[in-house]
Amino acid sequence: MFEEELREKTERSVKTKIQKAKFPFVKTLEQFDFSFQPNLNEKEVLRLSSLTFLEQGENLIFLGPPGVGKTHLAAAFGAKACQARYRVLFTTMEALLEDLLLSVREGTIHSKLLSYSRLDLLILDELGYTPIPREQAHLLFRLVCSRYEKGSLIITSNYNFEDWGKIFEDSAAASAIVDRLVHHANLFFINGSSYRLKNKLKKGSSISLEEGKKERKEEPEGKNDAAGSRRKSVLRVG
Ligand code: ADP
Ligand code: MG
Repeated sequence: MFEEELREKTERSVKTKIQKAKFPFVKTLEQFDFSFQPNLNEKEVLRLSSLTFLEQGENLIFLGPPGVGKTHLAAAFGAKACQARYRVLFTTMEALLEDLLLSVREGTIHSKLLSYSRLDLLILDELGYTPIPREQAHLLFRLVCSRYEKGSLIITSNYNFEDWGKIFEDSAAASAIVDRLVHHANLFFINGSSYRLKNKLKKGSSISLEEGKKERKEEPEGKNDAAGSRRKSVLRVG
C-alpha cells in the first residue's frame, strides 16, 4: 500500500512538473528517428540523457535549419528532466526577452531574474528568429550570468554558432553572452533534411515543392560550411 501511494505521489509530481514546464508538445528521445539525421551523434545524445549535464550546470545547444528536430530534442530532454523531478521551463527566446523587458517596466526585474535562476533547466527555443536589441541583450546577459555554472540551459538556433553575433545589436554584449553560453556546452549541429518536408513528400502533395523552397530559404546563413559542421557534429567545449 505504501509503495502504491509513493508511486502515485511521484506520478502526480512529474505531471505537475510537465505542466509547469509549458512544453509546446510532449515528445520523447525514443520518438526521435536518429536514422533520419545520420550527422547527429546519437551516442552522444543518448549519453546526455542520463542528465548528468544538469548536475554540472552544463548547457546543450542544438543548431540547424528548420524542421531537423531541434525543438523536439529540446522538449524531449526537458521531459526527461521533469521525470527526474527537476524544475524545468520551456520558452522561446523572444518570449523570454519580452517577459524580462516587461518586468523592468513593472519594477520587478530582480525577482523575475531570481525566479529564472531557480529553475534547474531553462529551455530557450529559437534564438535568432528575431534580432535582439541592446536593452534586451543586457537583460539576457544578467540572466545568463545568474545561471552560469549553476543551472543548465538548452538553446536551439537556426543560426550557425559563428553567426550568433549578428543576432545581437550590441556586439560586446553578444560576445559576453556567447562566451558564457558556450563554455561548458555540448553543441550539436544538425544538418540533415527537414522532417516536416519528409512527411509532406510522403503524402505527395503538390505544395511540397513550394514548402521545400521555403525551408531552404530559412536555412542559417553560415550553412556553407556544411561539411565542416558535419565533421564536428558534436563539439564539446570546456
Ligand atoms: P525544428 O525545431 O528543428 O524546426 P522540430 O523539432 O519542430 O524542428 O521538428 C518538426 C516536427 O518533426 C516535429 O513534430 C518533430 O517531432 C518531428 N521530427 C523532426 N525530426 C524528427 C526525427 N528525426 N524523428 C522523429 N520526428 C522528428
Ligand atoms: Mg523549432
